Amino acid sequence: MSYAAKLDKEQKIKLNDYAPDDKGDEDKDTSAVVIAKLGQELCELQEWLYAAQSHSVLIVLQGLDTSGKDGTIAHVMASMNPQGCDVASFKVPTPLEAGHDFLWRIHQQTPPKGMVTIFNRSHYEDVLVTRVHKLVSDDVVKKRFTHIKNFEQLLADNNTIILKFFLNISKDEQKARLEAREQDEEKAWKLSPGDWEERQFWDAYTSAYEDVLGATATKSAPWYIVPANRKWFRNLAIATALVETLRPYKKDWEETLKKLGAERKAELAEMRRTEGASDKGGKRKSGGQNPGSTHETS
Ligand code: AMP
Ligand code: MG
Repeated sequence: MSYAAKLDKEQKIKLNDYAPDDKGDEDKDTSAVVIAKLGQELCELQEWLYAAQSHSVLIVLQGLDTSGKDGTIAHVMASMNPQGCDVASFKVPTPLEAGHDFLWRIHQQTPPKGMVTIFNRSHYEDVLVTRVHKLVSDDVVKKRFTHIKNFEQLLADNNTIILKFFLNISKDEQKARLEAREQDEEKAWKLSPGDWEERQFWDAYTSAYEDVLGATATKSAPWYIVPANRKWFRNLAIATALVETLRPYKKDWEETLKKLGAERKAELAEMRRTEGASDKGGKRKSGGQNPGSTHETS
């Protein structure tokens, strides 16, 4: 079952065809139970990923202001072990970053084996905000699409599992969220006058996103168009996509871990054998506490 539209090959798309307020046949209360279960499975899968050290996971989050990138990160992270998970947020490039090619700062933040990294905005800003504000020509954008596809293929060839989510909200929903920020004391800190200004470019963003999603969807780095007007449905859609993508790797990771376990046991047995040969009865001195023990004695 999938709740977000998955694009895994180049195509022409119109965002009008994807309803931001879609909720399938689901309701909020039943979904809460499903989401909790998916969270548990995600937690287990992440543990296998972390231990097996053979793959990494890159989650790219894109969407207009207020589309729910921060909320999604909080939701996904909540079911993961923080030791195995990083978030990288990409803002307006610093002078040093802007002095390099657009992928320079991105590549430094990609996940090493065993880790999950969530990108809060990404290299896609360089073919979105820059294009909307005419900071780059269409020619440059076209070249960047090719660079992006090659870059993502490089990561995939190095065993990075990539999922890219576009959080699709409607223009009305954005207005409601911006107004809510203004009215809610606890949300007001998130207010940015720039968000209202960017809103005027809604149509330009829509068309830039249509180009991006259609041009950079590949089998190795698919896009998911997530109906994001309802936060619970957005979370359901993303958790489902993540679990369904990672689940097939579990067998592979289990086998790797079994092999690793057997190797470690063999090493230990070998150590004990040679220890036994050189130091008969070489037991740890009694009396002290095992330094590795965390058990309280009282
Ligand atoms: P926020 O995600 O609300 O913290 O805002 C970050 C801001 O940085 C957004 O307005 C982005 O459009 C902007 N930004 C991120 N990456 C780039 C980039 N490569 N070029 C220009 N602006 C960017
Ligand atoms: Mg913002």
